Amino acid sequence: MPGSTDEHRATPSSTSATDSASTCRICNKEPTSYAPTSCGHATLCRACAMKQATGGKCRECGEMFMEVRRVD
Ligand SMILES: [Zn+2]
Ligand SMILES: [Zn+2]
Repeated sequence: MPGSTDEHRATPSSTSATDSASTCRICNKEPTSYAPTSCGHATLCRACAMKQATGGKCRECGEMFMEVRRVD
């Protein structure tokens, strides 16, 4: 059938071996448990989230945020 798209299937590229538990983008030690409320990217561990509880910049998308929230 003409017009059928034959795009390459975007396979989820695993840059790291351990993808199940992502590590904090700030300290690279603790597992992520907090995310900015604005974009929702879980990039912060608890300690780093507390340091940026009043605002900061998302390490995933670069968006400024004013609050962080707990994620699971
Ligand atoms: Zn951290
Ligand atoms: Zn983000």
